[in-house]
Amino acid sequence: MNRDELILKALNSDELPTLPIVASQLISLTGKEDTTLADIGRLVSQDIALSAKILKVSNSAFYNFPQQISSIKQAVSILGTNAVRSLVLSFSFLAMKSGKAQTQFNFETFWDKALASAVAAKLILEKVKGADTEEIFVTGLLQNLGELVLARTFPAEYDSILQIIEKEKLDSVEVEESTLGGNHSLVGAEVAKKWGFPEVLILPIRYHHEPDKCDSKNTKIQMTVKAVYLSDLLVNILYSEKPNEYHSRFRKEAKRLLRLNSNDIESILEDMHSELQEAGSSFNLKIKKGKSIQEILQEANIRLSLLNLDYDQINRQLVQAKIHLEEMTRELEKKNQILNNLANIDGLTGIYNHRFFQNALDQEISRSTRYDSFLSLLLIDIDRFKLFNDTYGHQTGDFVLIEFVKILRKNIRKHDILARYGGEEFAIILPETTTEQAMTVGEKLRTSIEEAIFTGESEDYHVTASFGQVYGRPAAEDDFNKNDFIGKADTALYEAKEKGRNLVIAYSPKKKWLSF
Ligand code: GH3
Ligand code: MG
Ligand code: MG
Repeated sequence: MNRDELILKALNSDELPTLPIVASQLISLTGKEDTTLADIGRLVSQDIALSAKILKVSNSAFYNFPQQISSIKQAVSILGTNAVRSLVLSFSFLAMKSGKAQTQFNFETFWDKALASAVAAKLILEKVKGADTEEIFVTGLLQNLGELVLARTFPAEYDSILQIIEKEKLDSVEVEESTLGGNHSLVGAEVAKKWGFPEVLILPIRYHHEPDKCDSKNTKIQMTVKAVYLSDLLVNILYSEKPNEYHSRFRKEAKRLLRLNSNDIESILEDMHSELQEAGSSFNLKIKKGKSIQEILQEANIRLSLLNLDYDQINRQLVQAKIHLEEMTRELEKKNQILNNLANIDGLTGIYNHRFFQNALDQEISRSTRYDSFLSLLLIDIDRFKLFNDTYGHQTGDFVLIEFVKILRKNIRKHDILARYGGEEFAIILPETTTEQAMTVGEKLRTSIEEAIFTGESEDYHVTASFGQVYGRPAAEDDFNKNDFIGKADTALYEAKEKGRNLVIAYSPKKKWLSF
């Protein structure tokens, strides 16, 4: 099909909607020079239903007249011939029914959009100084007349057009051209011509997708074409799936074509929602409450900002955040560990301090109690260390303490807990160790120290140490307690000192000291 064939077929189709008699008579009447307001009033009054609708709109917020309009005659004289013709055509158009064929074309949405376009076109043109806004509403309303005609006269083809538009997200004009050989603006304009519409209505229908091609010398027509074109962009903010795109196109084109400034544009977008609701009730169309343009754009922006991050980016960000968190956790754990260690470690020798020893012994005692096992404790004190310090100096004493600890460490098992009890005194907790075993460990340590040569810068040094040992089985002893346990080791140590030092003494309850 080419353009001419398409137009011919559409115009001759049985499914071409017809204009109500009153509307077509009104058009021919308003085209004549000698028509009076009374003629028009008489004609419209013949259609009682139409008259009632016109009176309702005349008295609605749509016109916002201060006085009550109670007759068509009064309406015609107050509103003017063109406005009444507009209303008649608007009602005629809105009353057109869907065709016989079952189609996917949604007539309800079509009327919603048509009304939105009418409201938008009116809001836009009202911002242009000196513009005649009397007929802009009906022009905006009728701009897509061609879509209705095509949907009725080529129902099957139009269904596939709608499918392609939906699937490929293309503009209707494009798909109509490729499928039918012509578009709805062309067909709509031809139908309007056939119905005898004036140029001020036909040309905007014809050029509402390509305003720059309209070469009419009539400024009113030029402005109307531009306003109707812009109304289509605006309505697509509400109805298309690309609100952002239409929003920026609308702003750009409104500035270019009608020199609207940002304030004008802002107020058009703001007023759209409430004006549409009002027009809906004035023209008896149920308009869904819907979202305002601001809401739609806001939502679209949010969706867009999410879309802009592709899966990889989102993933990368999450992984980065996780790595960062893990690093921080690890660092924190390390710092906590260091802090803990610092609190538990003796600064000079690097072994556990007294505080840790106390806690560790608590734990070992409760563990032994739970499992009914046993443990031993060794307390070790360097012999005559005061004298050593006095003789060789405190620094040498420190050196010996460090080396002394190394020997202890080397000679105990992994599970034995070595701590600096204080000064030149040390403690070793020996879990699950009998007296005999503990005495053997003590003896091994004692001889190792005795034999050790502490090689200093200028001299070799020797020390000895005394050992007090205690053994316990917490679960079996009614009054077992930690301090007594340590006290017994200390008593044994004291006895080792008493018996001449450099000895390992086991605590004996009968106060009989067992010595090696
Ligand atoms: P005894 O055989 O009876 O234990 O005699 P002692 O001299 O070892 O006993 P005393 O408790 O009288 O003296 C302990 C000495 O240990 C006193 C102090 O100079 C020395 N000492 C304690 N802590 C340190 C230390 O950190 N560094 C040095 N260099 N000496 C220390
Ligand atoms: Mg001492
Ligand atoms: Mg000592």
